[in-house]
Amino acid sequence: MKILIADDSIVSRHLLEATLRKWGYDVVVACDGVEALEALQREDTPALAILDWMMPGLTGPEVCSKIRQLAREPYTYILLLTSKSQKEDLIEGMEAGADDYITKPFDQHELQVRLRAGTRLVDMQAELLAAREALREQATRDSLTHLWNRNSILELLDRELSRSLREKGPIGVVIVDLDHFKDVNDRYGHLAGDAVLREAARRMKSAIREYDSVGRYGGEEFLILLPGCDETTSFNQAERLRRQLSQIDMSFNEASLAVTASFGVTTALPGQSWSPESLIRKADQALYLAKEAGRNRVEFLRFDSDDRVVEKQPATETVAG
Ligand code: GH3
Ligand code: MG
Ligand code: MG
Repeated sequence: MKILIADDSIVSRHLLEATLRKWGYDVVVACDGVEALEALQREDTPALAILDWMMPGLTGPEVCSKIRQLAREPYTYILLLTSKSQKEDLIEGMEAGADDYITKPFDQHELQVRLRAGTRLVDMQAELLAAREALREQATRDSLTHLWNRNSILELLDRELSRSLREKGPIGVVIVDLDHFKDVNDRYGHLAGDAVLREAARRMKSAIREYDSVGRYGGEEFLILLPGCDETTSFNQAERLRRQLSQIDMSFNEASLAVTASFGVTTALPGQSWSPESLIRKADQALYLAKEAGRNRVEFLRFDSDDRVVEKQPATETVAG
């Protein structure tokens, strides 16, 4: 485990460092309070710190209270090292947010047990954080594909729509539905169907830009958000994804299976304040056209302010290949 020591006295710093290294700790050294504060704010900061009380720049308790104010995660367990043994001073140190203290010159065995208590707390907190992360993953991700689940992608749509309204930018919305997917299940079994869903998800995720989002909207339906994409760009993106998906060629029980998907696309342009539901409905209408027209294709629909389809040439594909 990594541990930070901060002490302005070279002798005491070397002694502490040597002792900790002997016990197997990975030691980071700071020569005063300012350095300590800086080290404790770095990305890979140690979770344990031993701070000398009296240091130039910032004292141990001062570093302590600054760190507590930041309330960063993971928690930093702080042990104050003090030659002061007056009770009032200790209370001051603990009130600054220190977890424990040890008086100088330190007794090796005492330091060892106190560090053990700190390590236990740090480990416990790491476990808690991991558990919380796992819960969040469970609550927001679809367990089969690891894409956003339905709730999350709808929340994202809500958020992205508000943002594009505020920033007066367009947003493309795409609904993807795998073609004849029931047949995949019927012919190759549900597990094969699941594998196809996972592969389709993987491809979509790797094909979209960093600020796009893709979620599992239903069984074999996906919702993709393309913030900042106008009509042509949205259509082209969907067309690119369609080609990616149509190259899925998986083999089950020696049989090779080709998968395709149909895409319904629409965009909310600046000035069109559609609700998430109505945008999805519009993309769904376009999807229906794609299915009707024979599947494995992208259909784009443009709507006027009364929700009527604008009878204009849809955005045409301009991506080569
Ligand atoms: P279309 O081209 O018109 O979309 O035809 P389709 O067969 O894809 O459409 P339909 O809605 O009739 O069937 C969807 C199928 O998707 C039925 C359902 O069993 C399957 N499905 C939904 N969720 C899952 C899943 O999690 N795993 C698997 N293996 N299949 C699923
Ligand atoms: Mg469907
Ligand atoms: Mg389908």
